Amino acid sequence: MYMALHQRTLFLILASCLFLVYCSPRRAARLRRDWLDQSPQTYTLQRAKPNPDSLLVSYIGCGGYLLQYGGDKLLLDPFFSNLSMTQLNTGNLRPDYALMDAFLQRELGTKKDSTGQISTILISHAHYDHLGDVPFLLQSYLRNPVVTLYGSTTAVNLVRSFGAPVPDTARQLQSLEPFFKVHSVTEGEASDLPVSPFFYLPGGRMRFAAIPSNHAGHYCFFGPHKLPFINGHVLQPPAKPAYFGLKYKEGLNYNYVIDLLDPSGKPVYRIFSNAGAACDRGVGYLPENLIREQPVDLMLLCGANYNVANDFPMPLLNAVQPRVVLMGHWENFFKPVPKIQQKAAVVPNTNIPELLENVQQFAREKGFPEKILIEYPQKRQIMLRF
Ligand SMILES: [Zn+2]
Repeated sequence: MYMALHQRTLFLILASCLFLVYCSPRRAARLRRDWLDQSPQTYTLQRAKPNPDSLLVSYIGCGGYLLQYGGDKLLLDPFFSNLSMTQLNTGNLRPDYALMDAFLQRELGTKKDSTGQISTILISHAHYDHLGDVPFLLQSYLRNPVVTLYGSTTAVNLVRSFGAPVPDTARQLQSLEPFFKVHSVTEGEASDLPVSPFFYLPGGRMRFAAIPSNHAGHYCFFGPHKLPFINGHVLQPPAKPAYFGLKYKEGLNYNYVIDLLDPSGKPVYRIFSNAGAACDRGVGYLPENLIREQPVDLMLLCGANYNVANDFPMPLLNAVQPRVVLMGHWENFFKPVPKIQQKAAVVPNTNIPELLENVQQFAREKGFPEKILIEYPQKRQIMLRF
């Protein structure tokens, strides 16, 4: 108990020093109104022989994306509700329903996905900025018999802590851990890490597999360190719903390979998702045999804390060789989502312009990626035609 109090006080002091962020509810409401008025925009990367089906990517914020292809729809780490430090540490983890309403209306043409348009949610790791909105999404928006969540046992247990609000999804919370021989990933174990089996979405046009990865430290002080109170695992569903940001322990981490399939079920395009967390050199990489079978067209790259990971992301880019990179988790998620005219604040403690410059320099030298994209959260849909 003393330890818990001590840790929380330490966290508050540290957090206050690092993130002097405050935003009044009135200002948040104004910003929200402003950017909800923006109509979605699309752009196309046209190829000589384009695939008749285009991939629609919507960046939600943090590690969150909605991917739509051939009728299948998949969410990665969906997180809408940027929260202040005060909200996080007073057990006030509440979703921003207005943002969820607007996003789902735009993407699905309806606020409630009762028919299961979105069939799959993939979770990279269980920190609140990746998982914190999921119980509310399942409770209020994705109440359908199809949707299945895949992630660590920690992620599944945290969602289960909400019990009654998500009763009909309890059987659809799938821990990925039984699919791997190793149950913990530490530095240096990367070389022969397995990949999970492929799971197919109901429409048969997308499939995915998980790759155990790791999570960069949160700060550097004579070497990388993690904030201890959000580290570790949740091995049983907590007795009470997890409304405290600090309850969301990291658990195991996953990168994902996501294939887009032609109508006969043959993979034609490949996405590699490193959306959740910067990872150490060699950990969470797509195995070479998979890259040889099907090269990577799009890579979702995590910006946050890239400088704390061991040698990230150049060796990963070099291994994956994607044609297009979309960078996420770059914005300051302790502030409300910015309106389009605003200069967005970047995630604290990370030099995002430097990262972009480094990737651009890498692209000039190596000839890939051909395109490097960075978008505001929830702002526009990106249509990719390869
Ligand atoms: Zn995290």
